[in-house]
Amino acid sequence: MPEHLLTNANIHTLDPQRPHAAAIAIRDEKIVAVGTEAEARAALPSAHATDLRDQTVLPGLIDAHMHMEWYSTGLQAVNAETPTRDECLRRVQAKARTTPRGAWITGYGWNQTLWGGFPTAADLDAVTQEHPVFLRAKSGHAGWANSLALKLAGITAATPDPHGGEIQRDAQGEPTGILLEDAMGLVSAHVPTPTVDELADRMRPAMENAWKFGLTGVHDFDGQRSLRAWQILRERGQLGLRVVKTIRVAYLDHAIGLGLRSGFGDDWIRLGNVKVFLDGALGPRTARMIEPYEGEPGNYGIVVTDPEEFYEHASKAAQFGLAMTTHAIGDKVNHDLLNVYAKVRSEETARGLARLRHRCEHVQILHPDDYARLGQLNVIASMQPIHATSDMLMADKYWGLRRSAGAYAWRTQLNAGAVLAFGSDCPVESLNPFLGIHAAVTRRRADGSPGPGGWYPEQRLTVNEAVRGFTLGAAYAGYMEDKIGSLQAGKLADVIVIDRDIYSGDPMDIKDTQVLGTMAGGEWKHRTF
Ligand SMILES: [Zn+2]
Repeated sequence: MPEHLLTNANIHTLDPQRPHAAAIAIRDEKIVAVGTEAEARAALPSAHATDLRDQTVLPGLIDAHMHMEWYSTGLQAVNAETPTRDECLRRVQAKARTTPRGAWITGYGWNQTLWGGFPTAADLDAVTQEHPVFLRAKSGHAGWANSLALKLAGITAATPDPHGGEIQRDAQGEPTGILLEDAMGLVSAHVPTPTVDELADRMRPAMENAWKFGLTGVHDFDGQRSLRAWQILRERGQLGLRVVKTIRVAYLDHAIGLGLRSGFGDDWIRLGNVKVFLDGALGPRTARMIEPYEGEPGNYGIVVTDPEEFYEHASKAAQFGLAMTTHAIGDKVNHDLLNVYAKVRSEETARGLARLRHRCEHVQILHPDDYARLGQLNVIASMQPIHATSDMLMADKYWGLRRSAGAYAWRTQLNAGAVLAFGSDCPVESLNPFLGIHAAVTRRRADGSPGPGGWYPEQRLTVNEAVRGFTLGAAYAGYMEDKIGSLQAGKLADVIVIDRDIYSGDPMDIKDTQVLGTMAGGEWKHRTF
């Protein structure tokens, strides 16, 4: 029976009854005692103690919004975002050495303006002719293929340009290897989609990264293939993250037909909420706004799912015990979704239904009239603190200073009584949750900008509030707050050891935190000591 007795530790338990402790006793997958060394020893008298030498211990962190298939696939790809073409070619060559002959090499991130012009198929041919290669540009508007990839796609001098795209050609009319806009599809259609078993293989290094960052749980927002891959990992005995998997709204009727309810599952895999996209995003100025974008009088953003349709989904899902979640960025869609949730809440009450754990993803900007409504309606605010500091300049520019005061406003949400569940939106941002905790506490970027107070400093959280978003808050959003999210006897032993006390040091150093050990279910998944 595996036992762990961790002593001489600086433990922040997240248990409000006993926020601080010095020792923790673990038997099998559960915590049996948290407290003084004597209390922990009494629970496990024969266990060998591990002296943590005053290192800091936290509950395993949970990322409440990430994309596992997207992230895992990206880890396999060549990072083509390099200052020179030669460096990019070196990376392709290195990848080719570890890739079976004939298998595709893909990548993303090159920029011809940094490289003094477009590269060619011949450049890639010089590093491999045995693998088809296709690398997308950072802009998203061009792709770069080698000769084998062009051949597999059947692209020759005789191939006409497709509608909406262009095959770049040299003076002799031969394809150069550069495909613009919709011509990229001629090649990308030949890049095979990994099987679900292959996806499970790709998830393993992604899980290892998660452990190195101190994560023991994730809420996965990718498609249903990844749910199958998670189950394959579990069948193989390789699953070491607690997973909450969202359900695409396209499968709502299937989920109802199968009799599934949000929260169904066990300690490793649970079904989460039904996910609907309501609008676009800040960067492309497609988030739906009440007033137009600054300097663009006609642009209010776009609606992806209108409120009536969202209401139909939400009302139906709630009747069958399925909670909703929404991608909602702009203040207009957030306003509309809160109206829908208000209606669904009154239906839940009238019909005597369970009050479901509906949530909202991003909560990026709210109108002042709506600030308090998530809390009032008990809608979970699933936010990604790192987006605030990444987006702050864009937010001020596109939304203006007056509206930005209500953007990424987690202090406002917390004070209004909403549960905060924090995540990364990885791979949009790094999977490292300490970057999120840093952003939530400081409202500053890693380089210190925009200055000592941070961006809208009134929105800063305490360290404990920020950690709570990545532990108990995320656990609640995943129907598991009775099992994980704090260090208490009876809970599952998801524990991390970090190299500094983020509660007492300079908040600007939180971003540099290194994880020394990550234990999930009583097993060390990552350990450096
Ligand atoms: Zn996302």
